[in-house]
Amino acid sequence: MSDLLVDLSANPWFKQAVKQLGLPIPTPQKLARPAGPRVARPLESRAVVVHSAGDGVVDGVLATTLAEAGADPHLVGPAEIPSDWQAAAEAYGRPATLHADAPDGFKAHGLVFDASNFKTPEDLRGLYDFFNAWLPRLRACGRVIVIARPADKAKDPLEAAARAAVDGFIRSVAREIGRKGATANAVFVGGRAEKYLPGVLRFLLSERSAFITGQPFQLGASLRSKIEPQWVKPLDGKVALVTGAARGIGAATAEVLAGEGATVVCLDRPGDEELCGKIAQKVGGRPLMVDITGDDAPARIKQALLEQLGGVDIVIHNAGITRDKTLARMKPEWWDQAVDVNLGAVTRINGALVDDVLRDEGRIVCLSSVAGLAGNVGQTNYAASKAGLVGYVRTLAPSLSKRGITLNAVAPGFIETRLTAAIPAVTREAGRRMSALGQGGLPVDVAELITFLSTPGSAGLTGEVFRACGGMFIGA
Ligand code: NAD
Repeated sequence: MSDLLVDLSANPWFKQAVKQLGLPIPTPQKLARPAGPRVARPLESRAVVVHSAGDGVVDGVLATTLAEAGADPHLVGPAEIPSDWQAAAEAYGRPATLHADAPDGFKAHGLVFDASNFKTPEDLRGLYDFFNAWLPRLRACGRVIVIARPADKAKDPLEAAARAAVDGFIRSVAREIGRKGATANAVFVGGRAEKYLPGVLRFLLSERSAFITGQPFQLGASLRSKIEPQWVKPLDGKVALVTGAARGIGAATAEVLAGEGATVVCLDRPGDEELCGKIAQKVGGRPLMVDITGDDAPARIKQALLEQLGGVDIVIHNAGITRDKTLARMKPEWWDQAVDVNLGAVTRINGALVDDVLRDEGRIVCLSSVAGLAGNVGQTNYAASKAGLVGYVRTLAPSLSKRGITLNAVAPGFIETRLTAAIPAVTREAGRRMSALGQGGLPVDVAELITFLSTPGSAGLTGEVFRACGGMFIGA
């Protein structure tokens, strides 16, 4: 379903007329989205302005990551170019430029602030100074990232305060720049987790994170991973299972995973053979017709994966349903159906796959929902099931880390699918505008987040919930 206001706003005449006439009509920015699968240098010749702490491990990783991804680094902070940046410039031919001020007319694709050395609330002034000068230089659909250390690992309350402040700061910046189609996120890097920064930075600085904004990414080092991520075709040779793959977010996910090299098993309900078969054919994968709530579903899925493909590396629990009614009017079978499809089936299928079928260094992603985090009238069953997934993911993830397996939840906000097309027109319009980006997301936006969490480059992120919601005003 297309969003008329996003389409109209792409026309400069329309935007100008709305501004000049002072009309109370939102003009959301059409988001820049990726043109195809991952490339080696996704930031080719793009200006990324970095407030460098000038020392430490994070600085070195930043220098190499940006140069390797093809960006043109611009440094603010140090008096001269630090040795890490010089070394990266020599290795990748991307010399850094030093800035004392933000030059007029300069346009940046990305603004990155390294706050990993914050110790007291006084240090927060650095955020103001940098972003006050540089935020006006951020171009449409640009990217803001603040890198900090986790507050719960601080050595004293003042240090914890300075670190935690980054979270509130980034959420507010996301709201301020959303109408430009730009995003702002924070990455909290735990001790020894710097090695996992490149994958997250590549994702957050690229178009693949178009609908991901205003949230923290907690990078930890608990995972035992032996894999060096490859940036192009990162899923070559991997087998992925996507449930609910016949349409919507599931179909988009099957496509993006296959584009990155995975062989995708597209699972959906019997009765959806035609649609599911088409998607499977399109992505060069295999259809699997199973009702995930059936008693024999876990065994049938296990058997199909083992016999046809020898196992599985990526499991995406995407199939989900709504059965909306206020609680007093809800029939018991509606409660049961929503909880069983969205939560019960996920736990039973994982129970059958994790030990015997899922290979080491595997990835599991469960589709939660912003409604599960925030609650919603008429969705007690749905929200209970989606919040239940969050508890499940947080508790199960640590036990999988020793095998290099990550388990995360993705919580979409308002996404343009048949689920949201069924919402009455006025509510639907309000839902679209209720985000920092002022529009609904597309299935591919969620698919990109799921795919990132399925790649080796997302090691370090586990047991977490990530929203794909454009900075929804409700939800965590
Ligand atoms: P959709 O209705 O377009 O697709 C869901 C798919 O799941 C369908 O193909 C359906 O046939 C399949 N499915 C349902 N029950 C099944 C069963 N018992 N066995 C096998 N397959 C089954 O939905 P969507 O909008 O693409 O949503 C995908 C996921 O994202 C769901 O878990 C949903 O709750 C979640 N989500 C969506 C939104 C949104 O705005 N669209 C928002 C938040 C969360």
